[in-house]
Amino acid sequence: MRDFTLKSYQSLLVAFQQAGYRFQTFEELMTNPAEGKSVVMRHDVDELAWNALKIAQLESKLGVRATFFFRIVKQSNVPEVIEQIVKLGHEIGYHYEDLALAEGDETKAIKTFEENLSYFRKYYPVKSVCMHGSSTSKFDNRLLWKDHLLSDFGLVGEPYLSVDFDKVFYLTDTGYAWDGGKYATRDIVESGFGLKFHSTSQIVECIKTGGFPEKALILAHTLWTDSWIQWYGLHIREFFRNNLKLLAKSNPIVDRFYKKIVDFYWKK
Ligand SMILES: [Zn+2]
Repeated sequence: MRDFTLKSYQSLLVAFQQAGYRFQTFEELMTNPAEGKSVVMRHDVDELAWNALKIAQLESKLGVRATFFFRIVKQSNVPEVIEQIVKLGHEIGYHYEDLALAEGDETKAIKTFEENLSYFRKYYPVKSVCMHGSSTSKFDNRLLWKDHLLSDFGLVGEPYLSVDFDKVFYLTDTGYAWDGGKYATRDIVESGFGLKFHSTSQIVECIKTGGFPEKALILAHTLWTDSWIQWYGLHIREFFRNNLKLLAKSNPIVDRFYKKIVDFYWKK
């Protein structure tokens, strides 16, 4: 069976529900964390915004509220999609990359951060933000918080800063695998749970047998699709990207080449 389809995503949500997990948005985890078993489904909408809408529709069909972080770039920031996801009752957050876009200029970055945040607040009373990894930039977007507080902007949380990952189990679908952490550049979380999964069915199995942690934060991007063409196209792209990223870590020529391709992709 193909993994990372909406069908396999549904099997994951249903497994949590059958095992008695409650779904919370990221904002709820920050302001009113549930007692007992609970899970936050976080979606970083890096691109393919329309896929985010399909995920949101599936979730609301199952009565699940999730959190969708949107970037300001046009591959992510699609007003119709944001509006419809808000209508479905999900949380919207800002997936910020201001420091990378401002080439490290902190004053400029904080200004655009504020502008972009109020832009997204036209759609939803945004309380959560989450950094975008900006893997080809030398600037870590989180450094924005070196001299500023989330609360200065009416925010309650940032996944990479506000969550204790020794208490909340973190899983991400980077590069079409649940153990693809080695491909990630910056969005890496250290966790002491000692659990490792490759496929979604392994997670489902673990939930069913009661071995899954009580609290979890799961990051699923927008690459989940039931379309055969998109699924194969994206798998081939991710395969090359993963290997290029690995090579780029040790080879400066590949690194420069990779950054050029990525910059071209986001500018087109
Ligand atoms: Zn991102």
